[in-house]
Amino acid sequence: MVNPYIPSPLVGTTPPVLAPGQLLPMFSTFVHPSAARRVGKVLASTYLSEGKLVQEFEARLSAELGMRHPAALNSGTSALHLALECAGIGAGDEVILAPQTFIATALTVVQVGAKPVFADIQYETGNIDPADIEHRITPHTKAIMAVHWGGYPCDLAEIQAIADKHGLMVIEDAAHSPGASYRGQAIGAISDFTCFSFQAIKHLTTGDGGALCARSPEMAREVFRRRWFGIDRASSPVNELGEREYDLTDVGYKYHLSDYAAALGLANLNGFGERMTARRARVQQYRDGLRQVPGLTHFIHQPDRESAHWLFGFHVENRLEFIRALRAKGVASSVVHDGIDHNALFGGKRPDLTRQRRFDETQIHVPLHDALSTEQVAYIVDVIKQGW
Ligand SMILES: *Cc1c(COP(=O)(O)O)cnc(C)c1O
Repeated sequence: MVNPYIPSPLVGTTPPVLAPGQLLPMFSTFVHPSAARRVGKVLASTYLSEGKLVQEFEARLSAELGMRHPAALNSGTSALHLALECAGIGAGDEVILAPQTFIATALTVVQVGAKPVFADIQYETGNIDPADIEHRITPHTKAIMAVHWGGYPCDLAEIQAIADKHGLMVIEDAAHSPGASYRGQAIGAISDFTCFSFQAIKHLTTGDGGALCARSPEMAREVFRRRWFGIDRASSPVNELGEREYDLTDVGYKYHLSDYAAALGLANLNGFGERMTARRARVQQYRDGLRQVPGLTHFIHQPDRESAHWLFGFHVENRLEFIRALRAKGVASSVVHDGIDHNALFGGKRPDLTRQRRFDETQIHVPLHDALSTEQVAYIVDVIKQGW
């Protein structure tokens, strides 16, 4: 069977034909055809750093994706770190999170001097299991970090209820879920803090970048101040000497996005909704095509929330054989991330996280990205149905 690599008309940068031996990739980087012109204009202007385009990008994130008070930053990791800082989390504190994520989530907890405490996941989604949170709360616990694995929103109502009962902050790691929603509300408008990533293989890229949404306007002001050294740019006057007048009161960071990156983000926002619709259609095609495949169990999707579908994953028996069978037919597949608790920095693998351990053995993801055509999905479905 031919491996039908048919490029999507949306994508300007993906090579149109696979070289011999190359696999249908897991990810692609989306660069809108208008991006080169937009970024070129910024370069020509020589105003490269944070300016009007960062503001325009934030306004569109808010208007088009429903994010509240988004502050554009230079990475998703910066967003996580700044959220923890603004939440006042530091030495001796504990933060509860699930291990099914990228190391950045727990790394930022360690960066502020706090301790990541791992709760188990739901085997059916990869998301934190609200039922495994409460018994891990101690007098040191300050926050719950909710990672929406693959773009599928966590049980936010249950998580918020636990947080309210114990006076904890909720910080969402929404790196996989721009454009997702939970019970009719956009991800980015729900919890105390929501962190997005605009890294190259995420849905919406600025090359590298991120956004931090704080629900309250007061906290959002803190985020904007502390993303730029801790100086309140909006209300610090410039004196006759030409110097900005301010009194630094606490630690800030150099985490802002720059205008040339915002220009790429603005270009890539064009057609974002259509790209998400196409992504959903590919997922539906996978799900329809892979109904009742022996040895394959789908993740569960509840009707009260909409995933951003960064990944398309499921559980398989004999995973290594599955990966080899797909590779032999020119298709990439990947676990993407194992439970991160196994890292020595985070204390080593926790045997008590039984569902995470099972998930580590059986989860697998197949290609899902903007350059993926319906013909390619049909081919991948066919390959999987031939067995492994
Ligand atoms: C990508 C990612 C991050 C980090 O984002 P960067 O923009 O690369 O810093 C954090 N958490 C998760 C779950 C991610 O996938």
